[in-house]
Amino acid sequence: MAKLVYPRALLKLSGEAFAGAGGAGAGIDYGVIDRVSDELRQVAATGVQLGLVVGGGNIVRGATASEQGMDRVSADYMGMLSTVINALALQDILEKKGLDTRVMTAIRMEALAEPYIRRRAVRHLEKGRIVIFAGGTGNPYFSTDTAAALRALEIEAKVILKATNVDGVYTADPNKDPNARFIAELSFQEALVNGYAVMDANAFGLCKENRLPIVVFNINQPGATARVLCGERVGTIVQ
Ligand code: UDP
Repeated sequence: MAKLVYPRALLKLSGEAFAGAGGAGAGIDYGVIDRVSDELRQVAATGVQLGLVVGGGNIVRGATASEQGMDRVSADYMGMLSTVINALALQDILEKKGLDTRVMTAIRMEALAEPYIRRRAVRHLEKGRIVIFAGGTGNPYFSTDTAAALRALEIEAKVILKATNVDGVYTADPNKDPNARFIAELSFQEALVNGYAVMDANAFGLCKENRLPIVVFNINQPGATARVLCGERVGTIVQ
């Protein structure tokens, strides 16, 4: 097994990673979670200490619900609860595959998961448990990208892995522009100046300010996550 370049990492899985081909608002596709879990089993085998932040856009996205008349704050709480639904689904499937996991929520709901306590999260990681951070930051008007940056900094992860359905950052949308060029490596400044959407602005700002590298990569490529952790050039690295 290749040596880990990043011994502790935080992987951000967006809600769309749970919805499969259905995309945003399409609920949960258990087959897709099963595939993601197989990928995570390989990742765990590298010995990395792994935290996961899960999104909720496959169930409720606050901004969209508020456009349809919901109060924004209530809609955002609904969004945060949807991340908990995804976290429980992922936990169940990961545990069935023999992995040890804990779900920690930013909003207390102790009947089903532990409340997020930083020191406890780090202890779980040290014991080799995959920690699934649910409930975003616990605050409306934020996103799970921001939660990912925040938790990564708190647990002192060495990298954020941003799982997407494309291979990394391009100069334009590769699905729309045939001239879109793939970018293997970027500085934070270059990403900012060129307006490349790596993570949302709050999350990006946190990473930039604290020099936390972000790797944007395609989660559908088998083995990609483990390869990134072992320092292979996969996806786009922003640092
Ligand atoms: N959300 C929030 N605060 C947070 C994280 C998430 O209010 O700290 C809400 C917000 O409404 C968001 C929804 O939860 O739209 C789902 O999260 P997100 O859109 O980030 O999920 P993803 O795009 O990764 O599927």
